[in-house]
Amino acid sequence: MIKTSILDAGKLQEFTKERKLQPFRVKQIYQEVFKNQNINFADMTTLSKDLREDLDKEFSVVTLEVDKILEDESTTKIWFQTHDGFMIEAVIIYHRQDEKYNKNDEKKLNRITLCISSQVGCPMGCLFCVTGKLGFKRNLTRDEMISQIFYANKYIKDKFGKQDDGTLFGVRNVVFMGMGEPLLNYENVKKAIEIMLRQEAGFSLSKRHVTISTAGIIPGIRQLIKDEIPVKLAISLHAPNQALRDKLMPIAKAYPLEALERVLSDYVKASDNRIFYEYIMIKNMTDKPELARELVTMLRRKLAHVNLIPYNNNPAISLTESDAKDIQIFKKILEEGGLTVTVRDSMGRQMKWACGQLWYEKLTKEEE
Ligand code: SF4
Repeated sequence: MIKTSILDAGKLQEFTKERKLQPFRVKQIYQEVFKNQNINFADMTTLSKDLREDLDKEFSVVTLEVDKILEDESTTKIWFQTHDGFMIEAVIIYHRQDEKYNKNDEKKLNRITLCISSQVGCPMGCLFCVTGKLGFKRNLTRDEMISQIFYANKYIKDKFGKQDDGTLFGVRNVVFMGMGEPLLNYENVKKAIEIMLRQEAGFSLSKRHVTISTAGIIPGIRQLIKDEIPVKLAISLHAPNQALRDKLMPIAKAYPLEALERVLSDYVKASDNRIFYEYIMIKNMTDKPELARELVTMLRRKLAHVNLIPYNNNPAISLTESDAKDIQIFKKILEEGGLTVTVRDSMGRQMKWACGQLWYEKLTKEEE
């Protein structure tokens, strides 16, 4: 039997009414879930034993099953199974300070980012992406997106416990950069963001700590402007001209670069937010110095930050990661052109799994 999500406020009200519980109990339950980072009712010791047992019969906090977890020093990658048998992925990323802080030479944990999925598979079909090869299966619900954070918070709490100030370690930043195109699941993403930002029955995340990453869905960006969704925006650009973008990302034909640039400039005017441009570094394809110069022409004088992402070599796709020296040359050209740039370590690359790879391998094995 599929249990009701604890986020179903109507059902939870009904439940408390039937049991003639005081209204503050709902608040208490949400405190256990959001603040105390509990996902099992048995652990919610501020509630009576009877209430915990009753809740457990009807509700669940995480509406996904954990299938597999892989971990290294800087990331934990979690594969979840949905109730209808699909796999999705979330990645916890640990940012540590450079200086060592104890006698074991460990680096101090600074902040934690969670990369979440918004769809099962993805309809965008980008040339360099394993998830794109899987095609689109369905949108994730609000509760499935929030479940990824609930589970990550519990995992982080068990691993790291409390911070120096006595509060629990937990997810500080959420990025919609896992499987799927978030702006094609607009309404559910919007509802999930509401829960991330709100203080009552929510995660109280700062709006500066939530990022939507899009391949460039123009109507979705227009809707973000209209709805005044206050979070940060990242654009998967990957090419500074239409011809190369057409080759890498089929969506570029439907939403050409010129039109995308116009809507992004409207977005900056409306929000005063800097835009993050994601740019993948693929050997002999996107990493040529002349492309770096084109990128400078395109972005200079814009409120922009460029993230260079080394392509993650993957047996399912015949592309190769740029050489480190070519990445540095590319970066230097951008910086000399006045852009701010970071080279991002592609998430999970140490663990060898690129986005969607595990599921892809499972599917191809089943087909063999
Ligand atoms: S890169 Fe992003 S938008 Fe493109 S196919 Fe992969 S998940 Fe979809």
